[in-house]
Amino acid sequence: MDKRLPKKFILEQKEKLEKERKRSLDQVESLKKDDPFTDPDHASDNAAIDTDVREQVGHDTIEAEIKDLERRIMDIDIALRKISRGQYGICERCKKTIPQARLKLIPEAAFDIDCEKKLRK
Ligand SMILES: [Zn+2]
Repeated sequence: MDKRLPKKFILEQKEKLEKERKRSLDQVESLKKDDPFTDPDHASDNAAIDTDVREQVGHDTIEAEIKDLERRIMDIDIALRKISRGQYGICERCKKTIPQARLKLIPEAAFDIDCEKKLRK
């Protein structure tokens, strides 16, 4: 029984992943621009303390978002590497083919749902 994913499907996923990757990179760029700590005026301003606190919170939120995006980009890179090696869509834990419906939802998924659930526990 051959349960491998159709080539056409993998190509579609590849396109999706590349688009996602670019979108995430753009988002990281614009987040970095929004970060008050990268504002060149920041160092010289004599803002009140509450402004500094607000900037700190803004900075932390942006940093967390950037971290999430960078993690996603890493997952996408791994998925793209798997595509070039012909190993895309194979669960890293049980080696079963991940269902297409799941990959459509999460193109960079490394595990099928069962393994994902077990790993999260
Ligand atoms: Zn699995």
